[in-house]
Amino acid sequence: MSEKIIMGSDGQLSVPNHTIIPFIIGDGIGPDIWRAAVRVFDAAVNKGYGGQRSITWKEVLAGEKAFNETGSWLPKETLDVFRTYLVGIKGPLTTPIGEGIRSLNVALRKELDLYVCLRPTKWYEGVPSPIKNPQNVNMVVFRENTEDIYAGIEFAAGTDEAQKLQRFLKQEAHVVYNFTDTTGIGIKLVSEEGSKRLMRSAIEYAIAHGLPSVTVVHKGNIMKYTEGAFKKWSFEVAETEYGDVTYTWGQWERVRAEKGQEAANAAQKEAEEQGRIIVKDMIADNFLQQILLAPKDFSVIATLNLNGDYISDALAAMVGGIGIAPGANINYKTGHAIFEATHGTAPRFANTNTMNPSSVILSGVMMLEYMGWQEAADIIVKALSQTIKNKTVTVDFYNLMDDALLMKTSEFADKIIEKF
Ligand code: NAD
Repeated sequence: MSEKIIMGSDGQLSVPNHTIIPFIIGDGIGPDIWRAAVRVFDAAVNKGYGGQRSITWKEVLAGEKAFNETGSWLPKETLDVFRTYLVGIKGPLTTPIGEGIRSLNVALRKELDLYVCLRPTKWYEGVPSPIKNPQNVNMVVFRENTEDIYAGIEFAAGTDEAQKLQRFLKQEAHVVYNFTDTTGIGIKLVSEEGSKRLMRSAIEYAIAHGLPSVTVVHKGNIMKYTEGAFKKWSFEVAETEYGDVTYTWGQWERVRAEKGQEAANAAQKEAEEQGRIIVKDMIADNFLQQILLAPKDFSVIATLNLNGDYISDALAAMVGGIGIAPGANINYKTGHAIFEATHGTAPRFANTNTMNPSSVILSGVMMLEYMGWQEAADIIVKALSQTIKNKTVTVDFYNLMDDALLMKTSEFADKIIEKF
C-alpha cells in the first residue's frame, strides 16, 4: 500500500518505499512534458529498486485545467493535498489575468511558506552554450522566496493609498524626496528571520554536499537596511551558528584591520586547507559579470528574491537555457517542497510534442534526491547526459547543434529510458 511522506520528530523526512506524490500537470506544454517525464521517473525507480520502491502519482488541479473543471484557478483541495503529502511536483501554470490571484506559483509558495527557491545550474556535455567553458559553471542558487519586493505590497500612482503613503513619508518619516502624483510606490521587505533561515539552508546544503563556499549576493551598498542587513544577518548566521565549519570575509576583514592583509590571507588559506566553507559576499552587478568571467569561483549562492530571479535565469542561459533548468520551492523545517520546471507554459507550442522535457525531468531528479532516492536520481542523470551527448535532442537544442537528430518530446524520453 502506498503511503504519504511525513516529517519525522527528528526533523528528517520519512519516505515510505511505496509513496504517494501529488502532481499538477500544468498548462500549455505542461501535459506533453509531464507525460514524457513521468515515464522516465517510473522507469528509473523500477530500475533502481526492482519493485521495492514505487511512486503512486496523485493528480491535483491548478491553472486552466482547474478553472475549466472547477471554476477556481487554485482549488482549496489542491493546497490541502500539498499540505498533507509534503512533497509534490508541478508543471508550468498560466498566470490568470484580471483575477484575484496575482500568480498561482506565488500563491502556492506563500500558502506553504516555501521560503527557499532552489535552482542548481550545471552544464551537461553537448548542450549548446553561449559561453566558451560552460563546464566551469556548477552553482546552486538559494533564492529567498517569500519577502523582498515580491511581497506584492505596491500602490499605483495617483491612488489614495499612494498619496497617503507619500504624506506619511514626508511628514512623519521626514523623507526628502520630490514625490509627484505620478509616483507609484512599492515596498521592499527583508527580515532577520527570513534572511537567517535562507542562509542556514544554504550553509546546510554546502555542508551536506561538501561544497567549498557560500556567496551572499546583495545590493547592500545602495539598500542598506534591506540588502545590507541581509548580508549582515547572513554573516552572523555563519559566524555564530556555523563558526566551526565556516570562515567569513567578515573575519578576514577583522584580521586585516588588526594584523594586516598578509595575516588575513594566511588565516583564510588555513581555513580553506581545513576544508571550511568560505562565506563571501558580492554586490549583485559585479556578481553578474564575475559569473561570466570566473564561474569557477562560485558554488552555493544565497540571495534575496529579486536578485535571485535575475541570477538564476542568467545562469540557466549559460548552461543551455530554460529547457534544461530545474527548480524547487522548499520549506526545510516543515519538509514541504514543490519541484517545478522553471520555464512557463510556452502556449504557442501546446500539444505539439516538440518541447524539451529536461527541465521537468531534472526537477524530478531533485525531488528524488530530496526523498533520499539517490540511485533513481543518478540513473536518470546518467542516461539524460548520454542522450544529449549522442545529439538526440528536442528542437531547442537541435537548432543550435551541428548534425543532431531531432526528437519529439516523447521520443527524447524513450531515448533516456532505453539507456537504463
Ligand atoms: P515561457 O517560459 O512559457 O516561454 C518562453 C519561450 O521559451 C517559449 O516560447 C519557448 O521558445 C521557450 N521554452 C519554454 N519552455 C521550453 C521547453 N520546455 N523546451 C524548449 N523551449 C522552451 O515564457 P512566457 O511565454 O513568458 O510565459 C507563458 C506563460 O507561462 C505565462 O502565462 C506566464 O505567466 C507563465 N509562466 C509560468 C511559470 C510557472 O508556472 N513556473 C513560469 C514562467 C511563466
